[in-house]
Amino acid sequence: MKPWVFLVSALAIKTAFVTIYLVALLSQKGDQPTALQQAFTEWRCSSAEPQGKERGWMCCPKGWKRFQKKCYYISDDTMSWAESVQNCTGMGSHLVVINSKAEQVFVSEEIQQSSRGPNFYIGLSAEKVGQWQWVDRTPFNVSAAPETTLNNWNDVRCEHHYRVCEAAAVTV
Ligand code: CA
Repeated sequence: MKPWVFLVSALAIKTAFVTIYLVALLSQKGDQPTALQQAFTEWRCSSAEPQGKERGWMCCPKGWKRFQKKCYYISDDTMSWAESVQNCTGMGSHLVVINSKAEQVFVSEEIQQSSRGPNFYIGLSAEKVGQWQWVDRTPFNVSAAPETTLNNWNDVRCEHHYRVCEAAAVTV
């Protein structure tokens, strides 16, 4: 590729990102910005799922991973359970709630790629033995839980662990 072709391409891509950034800024003025939007200034956008009916772009904060319509944050530091809950909330998100096998597979793969661990907090806790509760009040159904297929959930002592936060992607 000739240098100027590369330069023009790079400029075009840069322009696209700047445009998306502006669109995101403008759209914030119309709707009430979400807590996630208020917490971050740098975003990465990609086109919505081509097979779906959704149009436009889906954006996640820089450094977060998008899967379907959600953004995920794999921490590189460790905290207690209570601090992890607060940290995710402070970023306009919550500790990850696993709603499907596909979501669990995605999160598991991201955790493995991060080469951190072995333990990550997810948004499931029990104040009393056996009384499991998701942080977003999603009912916990043992038989529907994907743990039977991947078998990688465990209750751990509430020491310092890594965490995975989840939030809805911002659509522009
Ligand atoms: Ca989820």
